Amino acid sequence: MLMTRERRSAIRTLRGWAISVLQEAGAIRECEEQGWMQDRADPHARERAFDVARQDPPAGVSSQAAAVAIAEVLDSIGDNCPECPAE
Ligand SMILES: [Zn+2]
Repeated sequence: MLMTRERRSAIRTLRGWAISVLQEAGAIRECEEQGWMQDRADPHARERAFDVARQDPPAGVSSQAAAVAIAEVLDSIGDNCPECPAE
């Protein structure tokens, strides 16, 4: 699990880049209450994020490495916020 509030300053890391791409694509979202990242399980949004990785990776990073970073972030994020009451 990770907290994006603490990671905004580290946006220049590859993981931080991947998180921002996934958020912009709508593949993950931040819990409004506690700030935990949640996987929205939207395959189209994921595909958009991988498209960005392939076509517009960060400077000095290969498109393959960028796609791996996206996949690693998705692997590390759960579907539900651990602190919000289960629905
Ligand atoms: Zn929450």
